[in-house]
Amino acid sequence: MVVNPQLERVTSHLTRLKLTSTRDCLESLLDQAARGEGSYLDFLDNLLTEEVASKNQKRTRMVTQIAHFPLSRTLDDFDFSLQPSIDRKLVRELETGRFIASGVNVLLLGPPGVGKTHLAIGLGRKVIEHGASCLFVPAMGLVAQLMRAEVEGHLEERLSHLAKPAVLIIDEIGYLPFERKAANLLFQLVNRRYEKGSMILTSNQPVGNWGEVFGDPVLATAILDRLLHHSHVITVKGESYRLREKRKAGLFRSTDIEASVPGKGK
Ligand code: ADP
Ligand code: MG
Repeated sequence: MVVNPQLERVTSHLTRLKLTSTRDCLESLLDQAARGEGSYLDFLDNLLTEEVASKNQKRTRMVTQIAHFPLSRTLDDFDFSLQPSIDRKLVRELETGRFIASGVNVLLLGPPGVGKTHLAIGLGRKVIEHGASCLFVPAMGLVAQLMRAEVEGHLEERLSHLAKPAVLIIDEIGYLPFERKAANLLFQLVNRRYEKGSMILTSNQPVGNWGEVFGDPVLATAILDRLLHHSHVITVKGESYRLREKRKAGLFRSTDIEASVPGKGK
């Protein structure tokens, strides 16, 4: 094989400048340019466009990993026709990621299985695509983290860590009630992020029940006051997607579900 010292030098410069996508495709880029009729500017434009796209892809992959989404879901996989109660226009607006600039929160409320977690992850991914960071935490795991940090004497550090991502998703508030101490820690976190960083929260409880969830109406009001001040509330009213799938598979009829829902049985 003939060694081309100039090509070697260019390759080594590209490595030094961390332009790895260009380096890896250099020969085919050069071949293409030699065959085509484009200008020097076209060549540079193509090369940099590819490099930037590859860097963006890498970044998105990395930030998505750090976000700790429990499932791989996107808004594109979400069938909005099954949930007509969702304001599609509002979701489209949220997809632009503009809400994070002003620290606006999003509350996704509704019964189990209607897609709250799916929507939260989908929005989180959009935020990442727009260049910001996101962290997903289940409410119970979050509270356990904060309690442990307090016992071990590094609560401040934990709160700062949780205040950093542009969007913090707290999933499943209200499935289990919080101890008063836990609610207090959550209040500190909400306070820390208030008007600085957005949060997306999911809950199976309407906000009117949060007094019970937090075991203290005063604390619940203080938390809700800050959460709702700048916020969008999306209440999903439809049928559980999981049950719908089961019903479609003929495992039971919709009347069985209705009979099992308090107040719906005959
Ligand atoms: P919730 O958080 O409200 O309990 P999930 O988001 O966990 O519900 O949804 C349960 C399952 O059903 C997930 O696998 C989710 O991807 C799927 N799912 C729910 N709603 C929809 C929908 N409208 N279109 C597509 N998949 C859905
Ligand atoms: Mg959920």
